[in-house]
Order: sequence, then C-alpha cells, then structure tokens
Amino acid sequence: MTTATTSTLQSINPATGNPVGSVDVTPVEHIDAAVASAREAQIAWSALSVEERADMLRPAAAAIAERADELGDLITAEMGKPQAEGRGEAGYAGSGLPGLLDSLVASLQPEHLEDGSVDTTLYYDAFGVCGVITPWNFPFLMPQQTVIPALIAGNTVVMKPSEETPLVGQAFVDVYNEFLPEGVLQIVHGDEVQGKALVQSDVQLIAFVGSRAAGQHILQAAGGGLKRVILELGGKDPMIVLDDANVEEAADFAVLNSFRNCGQVCVSTERIYVEDGIASDFEQAVLRKVAELQVGDGAEEGTTIGPMVSPQQKAMVLEQLEIAKQQGATVACGDSPMDGNYVTPTVLTGLDHSMDIMRDETFGPVACIMRVKDERQALELANDTPYGLGAAVFGSDLERASNVARQMTAGMVGINKGCGGAKGSPWVGAQQSGYGFHGGPHGHRQFTQVRIVSVPKA
Ligand code: NAD
Repeated sequence: MTTATTSTLQSINPATGNPVGSVDVTPVEHIDAAVASAREAQIAWSALSVEERADMLRPAAAAIAERADELGDLITAEMGKPQAEGRGEAGYAGSGLPGLLDSLVASLQPEHLEDGSVDTTLYYDAFGVCGVITPWNFPFLMPQQTVIPALIAGNTVVMKPSEETPLVGQAFVDVYNEFLPEGVLQIVHGDEVQGKALVQSDVQLIAFVGSRAAGQHILQAAGGGLKRVILELGGKDPMIVLDDANVEEAADFAVLNSFRNCGQVCVSTERIYVEDGIASDFEQAVLRKVAELQVGDGAEEGTTIGPMVSPQQKAMVLEQLEIAKQQGATVACGDSPMDGNYVTPTVLTGLDHSMDIMRDETFGPVACIMRVKDERQALELANDTPYGLGAAVFGSDLERASNVARQMTAGMVGINKGCGGAKGSPWVGAQQSGYGFHGGPHGHRQFTQVRIVSVPKA
C-alpha cells in the first residue's frame, strides 16, 4: 500500500502501517524522454540474435534465486501476502526463467514456407519500444511474464509497476539491469497518470496486466495510433461441483482458491455452483476448512491469509458484502469486523444471479456458493458473465466433467484442479478477460511483428 505526494510514493506495509521505503514519482514530462532513449537502445538490441538476447539474461535466474527470500519478504512487506507465498513467487520467477527463455528462443525462430514458385521466410521481428504496465497482486511475476517476452523478441521496454508495489517493481528492474545494456529496460513510477502518459507516448506496443476497466481505457487510448495492445484482465471465475465430485477435494480447492492471497488473484474462484445432491456436504466441508484459516501479518509464522493490499481495496470488498446482504445473500460464516486492512474470510450462500456479487469481480476473501439443480443450470450460470479468465469443474466421471469443461466460455479450465495448463500452455483470458495473451509459442509471438520476405524459386 502507498501514500503519494506529487513527487514521492511512500510504500507502507499493509499489515503494520509502517513505512517500507519510497521512490520518486516520474514527472509525466520525463516519460517521452525515457521512451526516446529506449528507442535509441533498441537499434543495437534488435540487431542481436534471439539466442544472444536470451543468453544475456540467463545469469539473472541465479541472481533472482540467490535473493529470492529477500525479494519475497519485500513482496510481503509491500502488499501483504504470507511469507511463503512471497518467497515462492520470487523463487518461481528465478527457477522458471531458463524454461521461459528456452521456449522464447524456440518460438521466435524464422520459419520457411514454399510453394511451386516462391520461397518465403517468415520472421518474428520486434515492434520497437514496448510499454509494460503491471498490477500489485503478483508484483514480481507479472512484470516477468510481460517484460521478458517483449525483450527477447527484440523490443526495448519502459515499464510502470503498480503504485502499490513500487519497491518490488524497482527490484525487478534492478536485478535484470545487472545483465542488460543501458537503456534496454527502464522504469517509470507513478499511478494511472503515468500509466496513461506511457500509453500516449511513442511506444508501438502496450502489454498491460490489470483490471478490466483500465484495460478498456487503454484499448481506447491506444486505438487512435493503432498501437498494438496485449491486455490480461480481471475475472469472475466459476467453479462447478458435480454431484459425483470428491467432496473433500472439491472443498479443499474451493477454500484454497477463494482465499489464497486474500482472494486477490485474477483466477480466484469467485462463484461456486454446486449440484443439489452434494450441496449440504460440500458447504459443511467448506465451512470447516475456512474455520482453520489464520488471518494475520504475512511475516508471522502460521499466517495463511494476510491483509488486503490497501484500505481502498478493503472498502470495495466490504461494500460488495454489504450490497450482497441487502440483496438477500446469507452469511454462512465471516463478515465480522476486523481492524486495519484485514477482512474476515467470508462464505455467502443463498445467492442468485440478480445479485451484484455474482457479476462483479470481488478480489477479496469471499467464497460465494450457489446451489443448482443440475449441470445444465450450472453451465448456464457459469457462462452468464462478460468475463472469461479461468474456471474449474470437479467431478469423478472424467468424461462427464470434460464434457462440462468444453462448454465453458473461459479461456482456461481445470478439471479437478486449478486452471493453469502444462508447461508451454498460454495464460489466456477469453471474452472481456483478455485481448491477446501471453505464454506459450502463440503468446510469445504476440510481442512480435510478423514479416515475410519472398523470392522466386530458382
Ligand atoms: P489496475 O487496473 O487498477 O492497475 C493496474 C496498473 O495499471 C497499475 O500500474 C495502474 O497504475 C495502471 N493503470 C490504472 N489505470 C490506468 C489507465 N487508465 N491507463 C494506464 N494505466 C493505468 O489493477 P490492479 O488493482 O493493480 O490489479 C488488480 C486487477 O488486475 C484485477 O482486476 C485482476 O484480476 C487483474 N489481474 C489480471 C491478471 C491476468 O493475468 N489476467 C493477473 C493479475 C491481475
């Protein structure tokens, strides 16, 4: 969490209220100069081969791994997630980097096409300068998943981290800049004012991870210059629990995925549709497991749920809960007041789709369970959303569960698990959860301009 003056962002620990550090806000008039120097640097950077660029970044994996605990603790201090999750995020960034670089190198090789009369080479070239704008909920991983593909494709990058986590954003840029030529990766600090200025600047590509509302604004703002845009946005992920599901496993997942990171995950489970036949057992199992959650300072041992990132985020969640109650939802547990930035893990039942909480992203520690008469109704309701990020189906008949999964409108569906795919899968939001995507060969290539050169066959 931060407080801001026009010249300084003061980072405040959301668990304790103590200052963590501060950064200078980048004056808007400096952003064009940063982009201009990134453009200069792009000439030499794009002249290197994909392999040379990747090799330059390979030593960063060990550098991140060596300081994963320190980086993880900074993540916890700035945005509140439990220590194991903060350290896990930084550790994963280090351990995942070699594989990410390998898959970028493999995906961006030129391809050869030919017919009876023409030989064609298809190149994956850079766009130029890429503006990267990221959120606070995974403040190290989100920059990594957008900045690294942009760089390896030969773009230079001007990045703006979230105003809630400027110190982690700075640490990300600092560690990579130990290995990169000057000007290739630059950072600007600030809030949406700086974000908007970066979108308006002379960048060719915007890679954005954040809310649907900001994404809509960016798409409009970038439209005038026909800038390329990749948007990874919010979600309202459904989970369908079929009546042959293993109740304990389904409830374990529902609790983990509704409350992890205090519900502040783009693929949090935000809506649960459970078939009538299994609903009582499932609800009881969820309530039992929620009672075991331990809310507290993420830096303290035993904490499973940290604070919300900021008072504003807490206020948004409490307001949604208040409206849900007014609209007739039943509080099955939680919803008791807590000091500071904490919110009690809350389970709502007695829900229907006229209620706002079944439609708007909550991004907080709330599980919403709705009973349905059959899988047809579950599917209709799960798909009754403009979002389409992740989804989950739980059931023991895999053919039936797969059939349900294939009818869901989300971009990523997990059966008896979360929505993430095997290594090499893209991270992809359907409908209004994404516009373009990253990860896997198809995602990597979105950071490139496809260009073909053809010659007559000899
Ligand atoms: P946000 O949209 O408020 O802010 C994200 C970033 O955009 C910040 O750096 C902010 O300063 C900047 N920004 C805000 N408005 C802008 C504008 N009009 N123009 C340019 N920049 C602007 O989101 P947040 O609160 O930081 O993050 C939470 C949201 O991110 C949730 O909706 C969550 O679902 C989503 N998210 C999505 C993914 C994904 O992979 N799809 C991953 C993480 C988070």
